[in-house]
Amino acid sequence: MPSRVNVAIIGGGIVGLATGLEILGRFPGVSLAVLEKESEVAAHQTGHNSGVIHSGIYYKPGSLKARLCTEGVNALLRFCEEHAIPYEICGKVIVATSHNESAQLNELYRRGIANGLKGVRMLTGDEIRELEPHASGIRGIQVPGTGVIDYRTVARKYAELIVRGGGAIHVSREVIALRPSGSDTVVETTRGPIEARLVINCAGLQSDRVSHMANAKLDLTIVPFRGEYYELVPGKHHYVRSLLYPVPDPRFPFLGVHFTKRISGGVEAGPNAVLALNVRVTQRILLVQATFGSTRPFQVFGLWLRSTGTCPWTSTTAH
Ligand SMILES: Cc1cc2nc3c(=O)[nH]c(=O)nc-3n(C[C@H](O)[C@H](O)[C@H](O)COP(=O)(O)OP(=O)(O)OC[C@H]3O[C@@H](n4cnc5c(N)ncnc54)[C@H](O)[C@@H]3O)c2cc1C
Repeated sequence: MPSRVNVAIIGGGIVGLATGLEILGRFPGVSLAVLEKESEVAAHQTGHNSGVIHSGIYYKPGSLKARLCTEGVNALLRFCEEHAIPYEICGKVIVATSHNESAQLNELYRRGIANGLKGVRMLTGDEIRELEPHASGIRGIQVPGTGVIDYRTVARKYAELIVRGGGAIHVSREVIALRPSGSDTVVETTRGPIEARLVINCAGLQSDRVSHMANAKLDLTIVPFRGEYYELVPGKHHYVRSLLYPVPDPRFPFLGVHFTKRISGGVEAGPNAVLALNVRVTQRILLVQATFGSTRPFQVFGLWLRSTGTCPWTSTTAH
């Protein structure tokens, strides 16, 4: 007989753990289990990102992203204060190095003001140098509310609170199949089945695979990218005082390579965006191309890759 819970959450990254914590807060006493395939929580994106507390300057005013980001900063900082998690609001500077980028700064500034960010201001080239003596640009924006944190520490605290609230965290337990059983779902895992009234998919970059286990009809697929970082050598840490960002290129869904002060010390430069082409992913892309090649998201992705000259396949459907 499978063990039974009210709620099974697939994925022990920050999204799965935050979801679990929120459910336990709203419905104390509910039985809940987080199922994580790795041997610890936050082993993927959550534990390997830039560690930036974004303030919400990039997002379209009125959009869900803008609202979640601006509300999320305050919620995160309250949580950190309550649980003594270190963070630093060091601010950031976005630097434009060409007239084209300078024009885009105006839009970022407009968005920042519309999203209610405090203290955002335009910078001249000289003012950039006052804040960041080793940076040069023709114009910039200072965003004082941006900060740094270690999201792995936050995720571990979420996990601790879930256990304290009566929930369970099962690591090294990969979900391999989902099958209906009356009004419940049997979640097959590498360590035996669990039956759940409600299953929540928080599997990050593998959430499309998990959706397919539930026979969901998806018109999307996740194409995984890996971000790689370099570290400034210790003698050069003083080159960067806060966070230094370029103006994002609107053709790409990335913020651009930036210099990031780490909360644990040191400065990183990155991330780049490398298509994560291991064997499994390559097989998956080919399979996905065969399955979804004519769908809109895949066409857009193919066109974008082609525009960057890195498209690893030829497609008759992308043009
Ligand atoms: C390069 C890079 C830099 C970033 N920088 C920032 C930043 O500075 N600030 C910021 O706020 N955000 C940043 N982000 C975004 C942020 O890291 C992600 O939005 C966030 O970590 C996503 O969390 P998640 O829980 O959805 O995914 P993940 O952390 O990837 O968690 C998903 C979990 O699901 C598990 N899982 C998958 N399949 C199964 C299965 N079948 N069974 C059991 N478990 C499974 C995985 O092992 C994983 O632990 C960055 C992202 C990247 C890629």
